[in-house]
Amino acid sequence: MVERGFITVIGCNKCGKCDNVCPKRAIERIDGITRISHEKCDLCMGCVEIFPNKALKLLE
Ligand code: SF4
Repeated sequence: MVERGFITVIGCNKCGKCDNVCPKRAIERIDGITRISHEKCDLCMGCVEIFPNKALKLLE
């Protein structure tokens, strides 16, 4: 887990694979757009590490 920063969505192709990745349910899809709830996210990095195309990225 990292100490600071936030997860952002870059290049999402709406594959839906992230639906069950986040233990905090911080990955949300609203009107077809994937976003991260920064209130729920604890920066565990699980979602960043699972996608080889880097659709989710940590910004520090
Ligand atoms: S970093 Fe962890 S808590 Fe935050 S959105 Fe990704 S999987 Fe969820």
